[in-house]
Amino acid sequence: MPLLQEMCFKLPTFGQEVKIDEQLVEMLRRAKERFLDLLGERRRGTFLVKDVFALVDKLNDEYLKNNQIACGAGCAYCCRQLVCSTTLEAEVIIEYLGRLPRTTRREITRKARKEAMKFYERNRHSLSSRARWEEIAKALRASHYNLPCLFLNSANRCSIYPARPIDCRTAKTKKRCGMISGGEERPKDVRLFCDQIAANLITEEEERVNGVQQVSPLIALPISRQFGDFFG
Ligand code: SF4
Repeated sequence: MPLLQEMCFKLPTFGQEVKIDEQLVEMLRRAKERFLDLLGERRRGTFLVKDVFALVDKLNDEYLKNNQIACGAGCAYCCRQLVCSTTLEAEVIIEYLGRLPRTTRREITRKARKEAMKFYERNRHSLSSRARWEEIAKALRASHYNLPCLFLNSANRCSIYPARPIDCRTAKTKKRCGMISGGEERPKDVRLFCDQIAANLITEEEERVNGVQQVSPLIALPISRQFGDFFG
């Protein structure tokens, strides 16, 4: 079987009993090796992130040639979950926005900042508590429940599609989506080897460049110390 196809194998989904046997470990090792081969020269920082995006898109297209999923343009359930990105991915988004025509960029950044501020004002008490991080994460997910992503436009389309984070690129399901109650994220039931390898490479690069595997919710981007100025 061609390795390219092997890389598009499904990983066990969360919640399933996972049997990590030697065969799975060996397949994952070979798939990672092949992924790195296809990536070619290992560039650094945001260049690596963009190369990984391009490769994972190509491999996902490969998977879709022989498999059907329920996802389609205009369906944006995933975009109403708590979507996160690394700092490097956030830099890719800022770079993309910076290249857009000024009026488009201002429209997107103003809306994003307004929504982020509203979210922050509504949740500042629960989110600034000194609770354990698991509790903060739970509160954040609950308060974010069913809230559209800052970059989802009025036509239910992503306004930063070419620069969307790896989480968005690899989210896919065979079941038709519907929000579930309680602010819990809906499990994504199709997870490929190449998706996992790509996500790992990005977080490893994040740690190499920034010293920590920092992953933050997109909703915090326009009010963050690092990127807030860009959003005005
Ligand atoms: S970045 Fe785009 S694809 Fe990702 S959640 Fe936001 S609107 Fe959806």
